[in-house]
Amino acid sequence: MDTKQHTPVMQQFHRIKAQYPEELVFYRMGDFYELFYDDAEKAARLLGLTLTARGQSGGAPVKMAGVPAVSVDQYLARLVQLGESVAICEQVGDPATARGPVERKVVRVVTPGTLTDQDLLPNKRDAALAGIAFGPASGAGRGAAGDAAVAVAWLVLASGDLRVLETTAAELDSELARIAPAEIVVAEGQAARIRAAVPVRNAPDWHFDATRGDQLLREALGVASLQAFDLDRRPLALAACAGLLDYARHTQGRQAGERLAHLVTVRVESHSDYIGIDPVTRRNLEITEAIRDPAAPTLFSTLDRCATGMGSRRLRHCLHHPLRDSGAVRTRQETIAALLRADAAQPMLDALSAVPDLDRIASRIALRSVRPKELAALRACAPALVRAAALAEALDVAGAPDGAIAGPLALAETLVRRLAEALAEEPAYSPRDGDVMRTGFDAELDELRALRDNAGAFLVDLEVRERARTGIPNLRVEYNRVHGYYIEVTNGQADKVPEDYRRRQTLKNAERYITPELKSFEDRALSAQERARARERELFDALLHDLEPEIGPLLRTADAVATMDMLSALAVHAGAAGWVRPTLRPQRGMDVEGARHAVVEQTLETYTPNDCRLDDTRRMLIITGPNMGGKSTYMRSVALIALLAHCGSYVPAARAEIGPVDRIFTRIGAADDLARGASTFLVEMTEAAAILHGAGHHSLVLMDEIGRGTSTFDGMALAGAIARALVQTNDCLTLFATHYFEITALAAQLPGVANVHVAATQTRGKLVFLHQVREGPASQSHGLAVAALAGVPQAVIGHARELLARLEANAAATAAFDARQPDLFAAAEVPVPAAPEPEMPKAPMMADPLRTRLREIDPDRLTPREALDLLYALREEAGAGDRE
Ligand code: ATP
Repeated sequence: MDTKQHTPVMQQFHRIKAQYPEELVFYRMGDFYELFYDDAEKAARLLGLTLTARGQSGGAPVKMAGVPAVSVDQYLARLVQLGESVAICEQVGDPATARGPVERKVVRVVTPGTLTDQDLLPNKRDAALAGIAFGPASGAGRGAAGDAAVAVAWLVLASGDLRVLETTAAELDSELARIAPAEIVVAEGQAARIRAAVPVRNAPDWHFDATRGDQLLREALGVASLQAFDLDRRPLALAACAGLLDYARHTQGRQAGERLAHLVTVRVESHSDYIGIDPVTRRNLEITEAIRDPAAPTLFSTLDRCATGMGSRRLRHCLHHPLRDSGAVRTRQETIAALLRADAAQPMLDALSAVPDLDRIASRIALRSVRPKELAALRACAPALVRAAALAEALDVAGAPDGAIAGPLALAETLVRRLAEALAEEPAYSPRDGDVMRTGFDAELDELRALRDNAGAFLVDLEVRERARTGIPNLRVEYNRVHGYYIEVTNGQADKVPEDYRRRQTLKNAERYITPELKSFEDRALSAQERARARERELFDALLHDLEPEIGPLLRTADAVATMDMLSALAVHAGAAGWVRPTLRPQRGMDVEGARHAVVEQTLETYTPNDCRLDDTRRMLIITGPNMGGKSTYMRSVALIALLAHCGSYVPAARAEIGPVDRIFTRIGAADDLARGASTFLVEMTEAAAILHGAGHHSLVLMDEIGRGTSTFDGMALAGAIARALVQTNDCLTLFATHYFEITALAAQLPGVANVHVAATQTRGKLVFLHQVREGPASQSHGLAVAALAGVPQAVIGHARELLARLEANAAATAAFDARQPDLFAAAEVPVPAAPEPEMPKAPMMADPLRTRLREIDPDRLTPREALDLLYALREEAGAGDRE
């Protein structure tokens, strides 16, 4: 495009737009931000603005849409939520002296991953930006040589938290689901390798350069070497940092070389720090997002009794990052225990509720965008933090060195003193709008303000003197914003006006004048106001500069507050909901009595607690029972207890012993996949494949209704084979809920497999769910009763009952035939360990499944009613066998 044909303003626009091709350019024109051409169309569509035209330029109409500058934040918030980025282009020149268009410059770029504005940031979650660098070997599949070939660096600009991780291409999705960035930046051409539902930006290749990363990071941290950060031999991680920091700086409108002052440290994370949770499992466990109804309670929303945004964000992070290191977990447990012993959790929350977002304020001090009011809030919370520190001081936390918990909570004295001295009691929104510095802090400012404010006395004095001099009794000395100071004389008195009065303005009934004395006062007063403002700005900037050394300590206080807030919230919830402290044990598995579902127990009036024991001798529980019986709830309750225990939280149970867990996998429910448009069965099998590849000795696996998405025999065969592989090959700990009753036979074939079932009874044809998990397989499937419960017409149920009887007769006949075949679900090549010798004499006519079922019956655990039901059922099956 030949820009010469454009008007001067549009030429300027095109020059700026060329530097920000991907962003929506908000172009300041007076009281509006205007958007042009494609940007205008897009913004009009996204924000519902009116699309207009701004005359012609370059021979074509200029499409335009605009938003008022005063309400720009609300538009920015909406655009950022939609994943858009906005370049804010301000007028930086003086319109009065400009020849041609006033000078404009992009002062910052607002993007979803680099937010620092209080008004745009969500309170309870972080907005992180991730930079991802791919190494040469990253295309290789799992387990291939040189697999460690992707590095992720991520930065929460609003709190200055920078972390890096080296991982594999195979693990990338999983790690991104954990980190949950709001925006990702990669080198050109790599965007297709990212599967995440957030905006992915391209940066030039050379931005992702290790040497550059080394330099940028050393500058950002103000250190000579990265050795202390364990980063000196990680070129890929440094490359990721390089791309990330460049982009972050680009958004903050900073010049190359200027550092982001609040990056105090960078942490290298390792795979093995946290329990591995893949994206599907994160969703299934509804940690922070409910699957179906976005408003439904989640683990996070249930536990979030935090008093501050910092605490809520820490809790969200912790729930997504259960720790493998039991030492760190114990420290959290000890603190919760101490808070509960001292009854200090609620008082702690009360104290902390007065504390503003310290980490975000610290960052905004560094970015020079902090508002005076935020500093006032910071100063005002000092007493609350002293109270919190005193509460923490009084805690008896086992193993914690003196002051380790309380010390960092209080604000640094230097910070509080500086703010007390410098900042006005109730500062204005910004130094441009009014007074922000304290009277008495700066003599020059005080003098300028006196000059500005003492006009009143001078004017009264002048009025008295001029009335006396001129003999005009109704003469008035006044001020208005448009015309400044003036002396007003009514027309009737015009002849008494002295020589030295100069006419300023003529009204209908009066004339307004100025005198040399008044003029000189006006100059001094108006310039005093200007100069006071300038001085105010200068002093405020100096204050921010002086506060720079306080940023590090302030971030440490923020960190301590976040932790204390989260642990107090967990303690309060544990107390209110009757949770217990789990014992962490070195042997794998878990032994939980009276387990409840952390979220469901809050929504039900009566929740039936259940036990769960998993260990080397009980590696797989096969869970059977009617639909709606409580299988899913039971399995999730167990997984959530394992997760909570490794977050350092108490758990919803009467007693819990939890062993180490390295990964949690779930394959749960098929219904929700339909919405995402994938073939449910394919999704189901993809997830199963991931589990079979990834689960190991210390993994906890939840399998719900696997094989449901295909034909019965296919499904049953797959379910059986998968269950066997999990026990024999993966050797993990598994909860395996299934409606294929045949799978229960595995318990007799494989050591380490046990059957449990959710109990239900039928009283007078009506199904009653007990939600109780009992040993042994379910006695019947109750499918028809559930259908009846759901309102399927009685005639249809009746017909189904007939069909069922016929099917069961056939199946029994087939089973009797199969009895002469190898064991159902026996592995093809793997030798099946000998099942324990049946104690009953072998009945020649008895079908194999029937024998298995008899063997599994534990008469001591049956109610008389169940025993009777069972007897009927067995007789029916045996009768069918006889007919063969
Ligand atoms: P389906 O096979 O249809 O998925 P399910 O056996 O997995 O069913 P759940 O979805 O776990 O059953 O539970 C069904 C309902 O029973 C839940 O919505 C819950 O309200 C209730 N429920 C489950 N467990 C308990 C319990 N321990 N105590 C009380 N109510 C429970």
